[in-house]
Amino acid sequence: MRALNDPSLFETRSYVNGVWIEGKKTFPVENPATGEVIAHVADLSAEDVAMAIDAAHEAKRVWAQADVKTRSNTLRKLFDLMVENADDLATILTAEMGKPWAEARGEILYGASYIEWFAEEAKRVYGDMIPGPQNDKRMVIVKQPVGIVGSITPWNFPNAMLARKMAPALAVGCTMVARPSEFTPLSALALAKLAERAGIPAGVFNVLTGLDASGMGQELCANPKVAKITFTGSTRVGKILLEQGAGTVKKMSMELGGNAPFIVFDDADVDAAVEGCMLAKFRNNGQTCVCANRIYVQSGVYDEFAEKLAAALGSLKLGDGFAEGVNTGPLINAAAVAKVESHIADAVEKGAEVVTGGNRSNLGQTFFEPTLLKGVTQKMKVATEETFGPLAPLVRFETEDEALGFANATEFGLASYFYTSNLNRAWRVGEALESGMVGINTGVISTEMAPFGGVKQSGMGREGSKYGCDDYLEIKNLCFGGL
Ligand code: ADP
Repeated sequence: MRALNDPSLFETRSYVNGVWIEGKKTFPVENPATGEVIAHVADLSAEDVAMAIDAAHEAKRVWAQADVKTRSNTLRKLFDLMVENADDLATILTAEMGKPWAEARGEILYGASYIEWFAEEAKRVYGDMIPGPQNDKRMVIVKQPVGIVGSITPWNFPNAMLARKMAPALAVGCTMVARPSEFTPLSALALAKLAERAGIPAGVFNVLTGLDASGMGQELCANPKVAKITFTGSTRVGKILLEQGAGTVKKMSMELGGNAPFIVFDDADVDAAVEGCMLAKFRNNGQTCVCANRIYVQSGVYDEFAEKLAAALGSLKLGDGFAEGVNTGPLINAAAVAKVESHIADAVEKGAEVVTGGNRSNLGQTFFEPTLLKGVTQKMKVATEETFGPLAPLVRFETEDEALGFANATEFGLASYFYTSNLNRAWRVGEALESGMVGINTGVISTEMAPFGGVKQSGMGREGSKYGCDDYLEIKNLCFGGL
């Protein structure tokens, strides 16, 4: 790991009610590129979560009633601190998660952009006025913070997934108890460190690390003081949380799994499509929920696209995220490698052809070669299951209807992408794809200025944009009578 300019950002204790706590036990955090243990962090329990919820409950009154300008300025300060410390935050992120350092730095700025955005949005929680049904009545609609928010986040964006939940929550006056992934706790703790420095009051933002994901999650879901759960992770765990939250009717925001189709039509700019595909498929080494998982290419450009994509794969340099020139890191763990391998084996067994890659890399047990498969069909696992790794499977199609049928044949609906130069088709296909986000002639859709979220079993709720505060607000009708 590189040296930090500010070593105090490398925090291993948890942050509860403004106090850094060690816990009775610790657990190790490994660098996925080397297997080296880089830290031992506090291993907290469900009881600690309950304690943090009590603190968030106390802090709620003060924070919800703070001047909007105070909340806004405090978040703005946090944004500034994230930008100032972006190098260190990126170093911590690469060390625990593996993505190349430049990409990690990009994630920090992306996470910070949500803090900046919601520092502003705090000022725009507008209400409404509705005429009364009788003349002596007026109805004023106000929006209020839901209260305490429980956050559960994954390892693939250890900073940004948390930043884009805490920013709208704190902006509108909620308090938060956050549990980051056990694989990547250090980035969340560093964010808490900066939140403390920015002046976010004790109890408003709590970060607890621990191995007992289900126990800690159960406490967040069942504790009646918690108003809402915001989760990013698998559909499997999302369903568990929805069930657990039902007992206390929790509000839920769920950013769950995806299985994004990427469609290239005959009338597309093939070079642009290859470029977009590289970004949509290989960013974060295929480990994002909006990564292209299935690539559908129309017959007329299939061979050209396959050839050009194979050539583009040559630009990927696999290695340790800290090494010079590396733009593709390791996968998070050995299980992730095994999944990629099993998807390739299944496809090859059913008739697919490996164009490039296809093997584990000799760099270490978490490294897998970027892989291109041709001759993939809907019968193979890759068509229905999220691979979450560096595998690009090409499926040939003939007609627009056929492509739409393939693309929508999934219970997921997070992101879709397609390339065409036909305006009518762009509208038609854009509206017909069953997903919350559609990239049209682009492989990059995610920004703090746009709503991020899915339909079908990819979840509910939206993060970012002018809609992003809604998930953290209640609507109240103040009905005035006898006027
Ligand atoms: P991923 O495949 O991205 O790791 P998971 O859904 O397994 O997705 O994990 C996302 C987050 O949910 C992680 O922080 C993980 O520790 C946590 N988690 C896993 N199982 C549970 C559970 N039963 N209850 C609460 N959180 C859980």
